[in-house]
Amino acid sequence: MRTVMVGGLGLGALLVSFAIVFLLWAPATATSVPTPASASKPAIAPATAAAQAGHQAAQAASPASALADSTASISPASPPPRLPVSVAAAPSCRGNPEALGISRTVEIDTTDGPGFGFEHFKQHDFLQPGEVVLTFDDGPWPHNTPAVLAALAANCTKAVFFPIGEHAMWAPEILRQVAAAGHTIGSHTWSHADLLKKTPQEAKDEIEKGISAVHGALGAPAAPFFRFPALRHPPEMVTYLGERNIAIFSTDMDSLDFKIRKPDQVIASVLAKLKKNGKGIVLMHDFQRATAEAAPELFRQLKANGYKVVFLKAKTPLKTIASYDEMIFKDVKLPTLSARPTSNVVRTIAE
Ligand SMILES: [Zn+2]
Repeated sequence: MRTVMVGGLGLGALLVSFAIVFLLWAPATATSVPTPASASKPAIAPATAAAQAGHQAAQAASPASALADSTASISPASPPPRLPVSVAAAPSCRGNPEALGISRTVEIDTTDGPGFGFEHFKQHDFLQPGEVVLTFDDGPWPHNTPAVLAALAANCTKAVFFPIGEHAMWAPEILRQVAAAGHTIGSHTWSHADLLKKTPQEAKDEIEKGISAVHGALGAPAAPFFRFPALRHPPEMVTYLGERNIAIFSTDMDSLDFKIRKPDQVIASVLAKLKKNGKGIVLMHDFQRATAEAAPELFRQLKANGYKVVFLKAKTPLKTIASYDEMIFKDVKLPTLSARPTSNVVRTIAE
């Protein structure tokens, strides 16, 4: 009798266990198989897992010290530490004559990969005197990118961001804030490699992995806007981007903010170059601390000097290539429901 009772209890417990296991298994499975085709959902989980994995690996003290100060050599060995991220509140700019604002929004048809920025391209002169396009490269990065976002929001103005793929995977939540604020997000390769030093295939991989990483982090397409790291343009890759219908953005003036440690010098650099050019696409870095600190005063001075911001949007979103999406997700280990430490899960019971 006792045996039967125990057996009955055992069966009941077994059924309950199955039910629990199924309940736990079902949602875990649903989110743990990332497929590029359904990027909007799964992108969030693996990207977050990547950021968490990155966090565990991160030993770097601060973003400013973790990275080289040349755009040509940005290749951080470790992801940034995860910092609490606060969403910048966008104040109403109505009745605020001090806000920089947006004077007009321009849609770019990226068919055949047009080039912009007079440092390298001469085709399209679309800005009027006094008009500026704000662009920020190399993010997303803790502290600095949110600081730039806050300054943009306080001015009710918008910019184009060119994030690095690896950074996007380390800090997807920050890149999603950039998107949520309505800015345009292009891409800037996977690891900020100098593409002139790569084979055509390697360069293509850098470009496409960067695009897939931005898409993966956002759970939404990037704009077909691309900027070459350190503005180094291999001719084959210019052709390739044309075939992909991706617009190339050089610059009209490089703030060289990555070489400048002091915010007031970043402001002076941008204003001096704008004064000389009279208008233009301005290249800055949301990745750089000095630029992040300079942003509020820079925007104030742009307004005071009568500059007007032109915001660029893409006519169509950019489609990723499935094999590169898979490459991105392959690097991201699958998340599981269990968050227990290994010492609680694996225990030596005999030696
Ligand atoms: Zn860069």
